[in-house]
Amino acid sequence: LSKEAQGVLDEIEEKNVDFLRLQFTDILGTVKNVSVPADQAEKAFTEGIYFDGSSINGFVRIQESDMRLDPDPSTFAVLPWRNDDESAAGRLICDVIDTSSGKPFAGDPRGVLKRAIQRAEDMGYQVNAAPEPEFFLFEEDEEGRATTKTNDVGGYFDLAPKDLAQDVRRDIIFGLEDMGFDIEASHHEVAEGQHEINFTYDDALSTADNVATFRAVVRAIAAEHDLHATFMPKPIARINGSGMHTHFSLFQDGENAFHDDDDEFNLSEVAKQFTAGILDHAEALSAVTNPTVNSYKRLVPGYEAPVYVAWSDRNRSALIRKPAARTPAASRIEARFPDPSCNPYLAFAALIHAGLDGIERELNCDDPVRENIYEFDEQKREEYGITTLPSNLGEAIDALETDEVVQDALGEHVFENFVEAKTQEFEEYIVEVSQWELDQYLESY
Ligand code: GLU
Ligand code: MG
Ligand code: MG
Repeated sequence: LSKEAQGVLDEIEEKNVDFLRLQFTDILGTVKNVSVPADQAEKAFTEGIYFDGSSINGFVRIQESDMRLDPDPSTFAVLPWRNDDESAAGRLICDVIDTSSGKPFAGDPRGVLKRAIQRAEDMGYQVNAAPEPEFFLFEEDEEGRATTKTNDVGGYFDLAPKDLAQDVRRDIIFGLEDMGFDIEASHHEVAEGQHEINFTYDDALSTADNVATFRAVVRAIAAEHDLHATFMPKPIARINGSGMHTHFSLFQDGENAFHDDDDEFNLSEVAKQFTAGILDHAEALSAVTNPTVNSYKRLVPGYEAPVYVAWSDRNRSALIRKPAARTPAASRIEARFPDPSCNPYLAFAALIHAGLDGIERELNCDDPVRENIYEFDEQKREEYGITTLPSNLGEAIDALETDEVVQDALGEHVFENFVEAKTQEFEEYIVEVSQWELDQYLESY
């Protein structure tokens, strides 16, 4: 037993943990749990826990359904909302192993991200990531179902008494801290009922684990306050949607390879090539970073969400922004298009591969666009060579199907299952008749 695993066993004892949730995610980013009594922990670390993968989305065909979960001891945490003196529930995030080959299972999103991180390591880089997940808090109706009624009327950085959600947010932060999060900032976002909580950057794998955990903690603690937390990208039309901006930097031998003192933007050539790689693959990437029908309702002009494929050192209408940084270690780029409905493992993996592709091909980064691109007309965009993101999920899938770099990032198994699920989702959507259409046409024709 490793020292780290032994530490977990000790903690299980100390904190009276009686059940362990072994956690992993499916291709669509839904967190799955296998619950085992805590006395199975040692066995879980030494032999893994076997489960039937055939009922998990995009996992395996029925005839080859035996999977194994190998828990990662560094991810142990006690669930703060299932914890009293007598008993507690713990969780461990797991890697999924294909028992027939003994190798990481190709359909495990965490494995897909590990592969991306390995590629970066082979090139000499360690990847850091920090997300900014935004979410809405809505009231529940009498039956406890989610509504789209916000429980406050606060605006960006507003304080009490307007920000009635303050108590909830404080409890959420305590819960996250209990689970080992290092919270940097939290504030009310631009829209009514909208919030953002930022946590400190970490290596890309830990950050993806953190996003999965974050969504679960926020939902669970909001529910304790009879509120529904949603990471749906655009729950209300004509106001800001929820993004999950993700900051990236690459470190080499402990130094920030994205920083250059002499550059006008303090960005190194490597940072610019990484940026150019993401811009180059943006259309296909969006299928992964913005994977729902609803994602594309957010990616429209005017709501601080990006639409145009360009980068900027200033404005928020660009796909990638260079945030101001106080220290060389903080030089980084911010990808503004991802939204919190994405599978964080797949989204980070795809973004990392696209960026590394930019480095490998030594792609050139154009000058940043400093004007508000929302105000450009088509001609001006053409002049600047600015293309647009796909305008719906169908177009994004089409783009993914022609981009080998992003396909390879996902690997064949995930790519095929992902495209199949998302194509079906889009096809279900396009046959629907919406309220807007009825309002618009029912009486006019
Ligand atoms: N809510 C905006 C979005 O959809 C972002 C606002 C901000 O810049 O934080 O991306
Ligand atoms: Mg924000
Ligand atoms: Mg941001």
